[in-house]
Amino acid sequence: MKVARGIKQISAVIRKIKAKGKKVGFVPTMGALHEGHLSLIRRAHKENDFTVVSIFVNPAQFAPGEDFKKYPRNLKRDTLLCKKEGVDIVFYPAIKEMYPDEFRTYVTVEGLSSLLCGESRPGHFKGVATAVTKLFNIVSPDAAYFGQKDAQQAVIIKRLVRDLNMPVKIKIMPIIRDKDGLAISSRNVYLDARERKEAAVLFSALKLAGGLVNKGITDSREVVRRVSGLIKAKKKARIDYVSVVDLQGLKPVKKIKDNCLIALAVWLGKTRLIDNIVISKRGF
Ligand code: AMP
Repeated sequence: MKVARGIKQISAVIRKIKAKGKKVGFVPTMGALHEGHLSLIRRAHKENDFTVVSIFVNPAQFAPGEDFKKYPRNLKRDTLLCKKEGVDIVFYPAIKEMYPDEFRTYVTVEGLSSLLCGESRPGHFKGVATAVTKLFNIVSPDAAYFGQKDAQQAVIIKRLVRDLNMPVKIKIMPIIRDKDGLAISSRNVYLDARERKEAAVLFSALKLAGGLVNKGITDSREVVRRVSGLIKAKKKARIDYVSVVDLQGLKPVKKIKDNCLIALAVWLGKTRLIDNIVISKRGF
């Protein structure tokens, strides 16, 4: 396995690989790898001839005052995990090379970026779309793998790739959870014992929502009210949003039907967690 820091270095390796007609699978991450990331890596490895994992804590997607500085970083452990999974290249670019002085060009997926998480994290998805575009240009993947855990990000990247005619297949993989249902996230390490225990309510709430929909309840206001009630019963939990939206445009829907996303963001103390379920016959 190669560990590449320079953009020229990785581009040269990939050019050679592609010249041999090999398929490149790509998993962009911010590191601090966990089972969620590994599930994407395993799929990329299975479906392609050559697997690239990027590790880049992208400053452009953090607002001032967010956790950019304290975001967990462990390159040594991450590279070992990648090696075990048969990854071919770990790419960990320097911030200075990704965003050189006088960097001026950003990618914005309009509309979709200002809803849901975009409301409380303005600029976040502009940072994500810009970094992902740059990484796609550098890595030239045939397929790129993202988690449903970040459902809004997945919708935005699918739209970005479609709108800008990028020749890459976007694959969205299921959410990997801990035993109590909490979606695994690099940010879960911020939770204290009480918060961690109460964090299971995100998934309980989504299971409740799924159950209501299965019973034939289609009024999204009622579902949101019941879900919110369950979360509010937890002392440390504070709701950012609970929303039912359509899976393409992320616009609120009144009547729950096929092709909906039930998404929520909840603060546990100082940590903001997100989770979702998809109501769709075709999946994501
Ligand atoms: P991050 O390092 O948090 O930027 O995540 C990198 C990729 O891993 C994104 O596509 C995430 O959606 C995905 N991911 C994060 N957590 C999970 C999880 N629990 N299950 C599946 N995918 C995940």
